Amino acid sequence: MTVTTRFAPSPTGRLHMGHAFSAIRAHDFARERGGRFLLRIEDIDGTRSRPEHVATIVDDLTWLGLAWDGEVVFQSARLDRYASALEKLRERGLLYRCYCTRAEIAEAMSAPHGTAAVYPGTCRGAPARDAAHCWRLDMAAAVALGGELSWTDHARMVANEALAQGDVVLARKDAPASYHLAVTVDDAAQGVTDVVRGRDLFAATHVHRVLQALLDLPVPRWWHHDLLAGADGERLAKRHGAPTLAAMRASGVDGLALAARLRAGERV
Ligand code: GLU
Repeated sequence: MTVTTRFAPSPTGRLHMGHAFSAIRAHDFARERGGRFLLRIEDIDGTRSRPEHVATIVDDLTWLGLAWDGEVVFQSARLDRYASALEKLRERGLLYRCYCTRAEIAEAMSAPHGTAAVYPGTCRGAPARDAAHCWRLDMAAAVALGGELSWTDHARMVANEALAQGDVVLARKDAPASYHLAVTVDDAAQGVTDVVRGRDLFAATHVHRVLQALLDLPVPRWWHHDLLAGADGERLAKRHGAPTLAAMRASGVDGLALAARLRAGERV
């Protein structure tokens, strides 16, 4: 099977050096093996995704000398796929409606990154009512049905610990999918054999592995890379005001030279 990796940014802001590092890792992993490198725009969040960020992402990657294979895939054009995956899980009795408001649950819980608190299952077993709701995966039921699962990261076997992630959201109130569902469906649909991404998504992989089992999807290998640190040793994240690639590009920084420094593991 052709080695296939992808870079899957969310167009909710500008890319920074951490993204460049991750894109280079995924790109080089495929190229060194004669494989394919894909670009997928994760824009299911209709309120936060912006077309101008997509254009900037394309320019940023080109500036870094990274070329992808085939057409760019947009998740916003694939909502029907997520809806049918969701339906499969619903039919198996693995989903429940959650009516909790954002104010009631920490915003961070539905974000793919970080170690947020786990949803306490408030709405599990609650009677259905006519109100805005998201769909959550009953993780205990899902794990019981999925059986013993493991996955490999850097060729090392990892036991599945999805239970610790709690009842994650699979369809949002405002979108018929969530990050976890869309990424799982798409990696399979696009034939991704090796998921190369940052270590901040390590815990999410437990959830993706369970979803693959429940949806009968192929299981890729994972290569979670360390996160890029700045000169001060601090993790580079856009939240901490790291310079964006677009700003560096505009100020005349040579993208190919920057990519070479990132590949060489130099502090940037
Ligand atoms: N869209 C996610 C992000 O921008 C990454 C998805 C992934 O690599 O699985 O953080």
